[in-house]
Amino acid sequence: MFQMKLANRALNISPSPTLAIDTEAKLLLARGVNAISFGAGEPDFDTPDYIKEAAVAAIWDGKTKYTPVAGILTLREAICRKLKADQHLEYEPEQIIVSAGAKHSLYNTMQVLVQEGDEVILPAPYWVSYAEQIKLAGATPRIINTREENGFKLTPSELERAINPRTRLLILNSPCNPTGVVYTGADLESLKEVILRYDFSVISDEIYESFIYDGLKHISIASLAPELKERTILINGVSKAYSMTGWRIGYAAAPQPVIKAMTDLQSHSTSNPTSIAQEASVVALNGDQGPLKKMVAEYLRRRNYMHKRLVDLPGITCILPGGSFYAFPNVKYYFGKTYKGRLIRCASDLAAVLLEEAHVAVIPGAAFGNDDYIRLSYVCSIKKIDEGLDRISDLLAKIK
Ligand SMILES: *Cc1c(COP(=O)(O)O)cnc(C)c1O
Repeated sequence: MFQMKLANRALNISPSPTLAIDTEAKLLLARGVNAISFGAGEPDFDTPDYIKEAAVAAIWDGKTKYTPVAGILTLREAICRKLKADQHLEYEPEQIIVSAGAKHSLYNTMQVLVQEGDEVILPAPYWVSYAEQIKLAGATPRIINTREENGFKLTPSELERAINPRTRLLILNSPCNPTGVVYTGADLESLKEVILRYDFSVISDEIYESFIYDGLKHISIASLAPELKERTILINGVSKAYSMTGWRIGYAAAPQPVIKAMTDLQSHSTSNPTSIAQEASVVALNGDQGPLKKMVAEYLRRRNYMHKRLVDLPGITCILPGGSFYAFPNVKYYFGKTYKGRLIRCASDLAAVLLEEAHVAVIPGAAFGNDDYIRLSYVCSIKKIDEGLDRISDLLAKIK
């Protein structure tokens, strides 16, 4: 029988472990098992009606054809307006590209900025796709393990130690998936001192900017100084903020030559993102931000509840996540112990036991480069959080 040979590029890709766990939890549900998933990575709210209506109107208006590769002008203008209003950042529409999700914008960025021999500094715990996208571009992730004691923030000295002549990029993600850490203005200022002494660019993934609590304020590193804006690729999108994950609209803002290169690349791969979703995104960005604020208020309630339940568990530590919709507790206390004779060596072992024995899905930290932790999202009702944490608590009590 003929066996198709896969390219090395394909052989080196690891499948997304977060999606794998979520799939397993959904399989349990389909079998009628009352499983609870803290694995999801998207808001549980429906897309607001006014956005859906804009999409329907776009269809009837015949906005169903190819658009400019980088996105319709009205959307790029809405993005410029938003960046100016929220971050005092001045961009022209030529400095914006709209892609099929922020993930796609990140992929394009990596493809046009790095290659074989280059290094990309990636603070861990990190969102899993960064590492794969760096490798797909031929470059090497230079992983820095940030520390729980520092609230998982990259420190200037950690950054400086990782820099070498091959360094091309630094990836920052604030608020962060999976840790929930939010970099303050002072944190970013101290990193700025280091960054500006060297010759590399910064990807700033700001997809969770709206999910921020405790009076913290989202600050884009690009807004700190013109010299930083010049070397920043700002990534954002409508997926998380407007509960529009399925619509696939994300964007990058960066100096024009970088955006042009990304547009050329996109012109030969996906072309424009969906015209209808683009039209709806204009309305999402320019329209009533009330539903978004309500959603964030609800997530704050859930965060508080989940965090309290987690830190009440024996042996567990968990920083208070200032943003995003994840908690990232340290579960190391249970390593080397057993559940019904089954040895737990790492968070992946614990996650497997939790799923099989308690029917609770959590994502092991291995997916984010540190398997001493698990990630739980609170994109479900307080009732579900309560029930899930009860099950986790009962199971942990039986680990000896
Ligand atoms: C969800 C997510 C994205 C991608 O979002 P899109 O749906 O592709 O717009 C990017 N970065 C992080 C850290 C995320 O969690």
